[in-house]
Amino acid sequence: MSREPKQMNNPEPDRSGLPRGKVLRYVLVWFIFLEVMIILAGIGWMIFMLREEAEEPILDEDMTIAYEELTEPEIDLDLLKPKIEKQLLTVNPYSRPGDKIDGVKYIVIHYLANPGTSAQQNRDYFESLMDLKDTYMSANYIVGLDGEILQCVPDDEIAYASNNENHESISIENCHMDSSGKFTDATYVSLVRLTAYLSEYYEIPRERIIRHYDVTGKLCPKYFVLHEDKWEQFLDDVIDLREDYHKEAESRIEADPISSELDVLIMETEPL
Ligand SMILES: [Zn+2]
Repeated sequence: MSREPKQMNNPEPDRSGLPRGKVLRYVLVWFIFLEVMIILAGIGWMIFMLREEAEEPILDEDMTIAYEELTEPEIDLDLLKPKIEKQLLTVNPYSRPGDKIDGVKYIVIHYLANPGTSAQQNRDYFESLMDLKDTYMSANYIVGLDGEILQCVPDDEIAYASNNENHESISIENCHMDSSGKFTDATYVSLVRLTAYLSEYYEIPRERIIRHYDVTGKLCPKYFVLHEDKWEQFLDDVIDLREDYHKEAESRIEADPISSELDVLIMETEPL
């Protein structure tokens, strides 16, 4: 009896009728094909998601910022700022120590108790104290009889005007004509404007705009201490001016919302 020798070069066919080697090759090709498709799909999905992330949410965020800015309008404070002439004192122990204040908590209103003198004369007197050495006195601002405003000490530095509030306040001295202590119309208008500007800038509410009298009980500013109604009127005028200014700023933004929005968007996206 003879046994048929196994054909080594002719592999055993499987049930599909294909040789085993060919089947393995098909499986391998399909497997690689599927792997490639899965990887390509994965890459495609990642690119899609990255684009989504890169485009939509950032735009949304920018628009949110833009609308927030619109409801809380960016205000051009130059609209409110009065003309201020800087004549800073020389740093010296008697009128400008050069020390920083802790912050602006109050705006303190004064009168100079020196009838008929000008803002310039009083500023020069503060300056002369470094030679006279006989007293400590100054103010951040002096408003003159014609409404002129001199700045003697920077806002963030101590001025010697409001006693124990010097370290957290800005002081405004005012000239006046006679012993009544009443301010001229020009002085009054400039004082309202300066107080409105500073209180807006430093976000000082009405109740923290005070008189020297409210700090120490001193008769200063005389007219506003003796006439409480005039003091209240002054505060009303300051707040009214700030409100008018807000309305004006808002109306400017409403008049040109697109450019305002664009300005904000440009500003926000510039660092990128
Ligand atoms: Zn005073």
